[in-house]
Amino acid sequence: MTVAGARAPDGGVTDGQVLEVRGLTKHYDSPDGERLLVVDVPRFQMAAGEHVGLRGPSGSGKTTFLNLLAGILQADAGEVRIDGRPMTGIGEAERDRLRAERLGYVFQTFNLLHGYTALENVELGMMFGPGIDSAYARELLDRVGLAHRLDYRPRQLSVGQQQRVAVARALANRPRLVLADEPTGNLDRRHAMEALDLMRAVCREHGAALLLVSHDPEVLSHFERVDDLSVLNRAAQGTVSAPGAGGRA
Ligand code: ADP
Ligand code: MG
Repeated sequence: MTVAGARAPDGGVTDGQVLEVRGLTKHYDSPDGERLLVVDVPRFQMAAGEHVGLRGPSGSGKTTFLNLLAGILQADAGEVRIDGRPMTGIGEAERDRLRAERLGYVFQTFNLLHGYTALENVELGMMFGPGIDSAYARELLDRVGLAHRLDYRPRQLSVGQQQRVAVARALANRPRLVLADEPTGNLDRRHAMEALDLMRAVCREHGAALLLVSHDPEVLSHFERVDDLSVLNRAAQGTVSAPGAGGRA
């Protein structure tokens, strides 16, 4: 865990927060031309190495929020800092670079590249960050139980195995923060719990913070801190079901 005022490995200064969000807003244009506010989060932060479960009903802006944190979407206003580095107020190429260097992302539908093997998919996760390190890619795939499937392409793997490749890829660039968007949503109960345990353990071993979106109470019950986006996101307040017990579970 990073201590207050510590220097991050690459020289960036951090006050121990791996993620800081202030006044973040995002609008979408609806099909009938209306401008809809979908994210309005005054404040959100995570400490280095912290694991946070994020719940919120469908449509409360979970995916949009993660995509703003990852710089996949550009915010309309506000600030996102990853490890003290601004993800907002910079151009797309700089956002891509910061994401490649600091973040891991486990997409709900995995987004593996189907023309490439499991090993190549993990190596591609390193390419725009620290550079390809095949030995480390193999180590990660071994860690997620896929040492015997390095040369398989995604379609030759089960859904649970694809999910594990996605976890290995998300860790490939030695990220400070891993974002996971309902990563267990496509798995049956047993595989969901296995995937969750694995993701948490691998993040812990690598000192990565984890922000995991889910609406599954059993998944969320494993997190010490659970935040509710229908509370945090003012744009979701009133439009979605009443917030449950927010804060710490
Ligand atoms: P969640 O992941 O919590 O289900 P999303 O972030 O996907 O929510 O969506 C939040 C809201 O934004 C929803 O009302 C959705 O209809 C709307 N939305 C999402 N993407 C777009 C888009 N590209 N254009 C217009 N509206 C969108
Ligand atoms: Mg979503």
